[in-house]
Amino acid sequence: MKHLEATPPLPIARGEGPWLIDYEGRRYLDAISSWWVNLFGHCHPRINAALRDQLDRLEHVILAGCTHAPVVELSERLARLTGLGHAFYGSDGASATEIALKMSFHFWRNSGQPQKTGFISVQHGYHGETLGALSVTDVALFKDTYAPLLRHTHQVQSPDWRLAEPGESAEAYALRAAADLERYLEQHADTTAALIVEPLVQGAAGMAMHHPAYLQKARALCDRFGIHLIADEIAVGFGRTGTLFACEQAGIRPDLLCLSKGITGGYLPLSAVLCSEAIYAAFYDDHTARGFLHSHSYTGNALACRAALAVLDLFEGGKVIAANRDKAAHLTAMLAEVADHPRVTHFRHLGMIWAFDVKDAKPGFSRTWHERALAEGVFMRPIGNSVYFMPPYVIGEAEKHLIVRVSRKLLAMPD
Ligand SMILES: *Cc1c(COP(=O)(O)O)cnc(C)c1O
Repeated sequence: MKHLEATPPLPIARGEGPWLIDYEGRRYLDAISSWWVNLFGHCHPRINAALRDQLDRLEHVILAGCTHAPVVELSERLARLTGLGHAFYGSDGASATEIALKMSFHFWRNSGQPQKTGFISVQHGYHGETLGALSVTDVALFKDTYAPLLRHTHQVQSPDWRLAEPGESAEAYALRAAADLERYLEQHADTTAALIVEPLVQGAAGMAMHHPAYLQKARALCDRFGIHLIADEIAVGFGRTGTLFACEQAGIRPDLLCLSKGITGGYLPLSAVLCSEAIYAAFYDDHTARGFLHSHSYTGNALACRAALAVLDLFEGGKVIAANRDKAAHLTAMLAEVADHPRVTHFRHLGMIWAFDVKDAKPGFSRTWHERALAEGVFMRPIGNSVYFMPPYVIGEAEKHLIVRVSRKLLAMPD
């Protein structure tokens, strides 16, 4: 709150494609997609039109004992796209994590293994900040204060390739990190319900990236030791890593898949947890208490589901993934000079995410960079010394040039 006195929040009057426009008409490139939620820019005509149409039909109805077309269609389409045939809806990412954790535990309980209560997550992972989600999150700044309220969970070595030894490939390091998971499971699989991972990119860890071999090995270990694999694709889903879902790049399917953020194109809060047939079947029972009793008032909200359908339409109609591939290759080439800059280390890129670390970053680096970028018309929020770009997919030539120009200019300014 005190920091806001020095850096007041930007009052935003309008959004237009990748741009945020304040009340004085100043324009800022939304280079982080409004906290990674926006996919196709602000005020997209097709999403707007779908929502206007939905507003005149049905805004919301209780999803206990009622249903509606947008939620049925969305569930069917997500099932086709992910191979996971059952969907449970929540209102945001953290609630998706809670649902996945509870569902995994309850599956084991219904299956005669109530001792499987433990959860494993990856070092520096982020899964949201409600108490259950925070228990599997490993970001000290968010977690330490609330530690007395949290459940104990186990963190395994991070596959982040920045931690590789000199000369060690990203793949070799990913497999070395997976060996730590294997050692833990050899001892504790009996009391463990699930492993939760952010596939390919750990966003809040500072866009830490890892080789898909980690996910393949994790999938194999979860199968061998009888625990669930929960993929938290809340940030990386919907094309962000260059495929519709990040797990596709490892050729694996999780038991539980958490989706949110981009699911509505950044319009409305919605999350979905998709699960396998085996998990669904364990709850299919005459006894109410063996069902998954978890509810949110706005579960399966009709407007949010309709926005999500419009997003899926845009993916299907627009060859978005292929177009992003060309766009990304071009911006990466344009950023070569940034990657080679003497202050820059660990330049990394996957899909529509770019990040680099600034070697000589001083305390307060993130805020300074944020303010200087704003003065250049770019809205950014570095994480520690990691600068990243995660723009809406609709950026064009002018926006790419702005990203490169601002990076070079800010790197040339002393801290
Ligand atoms: C943002 C995020 C969450 C939490 O989502 P909220 O909607 O902010 O609660 C969980 N996991 C990952 C990987 C995220 O990036």
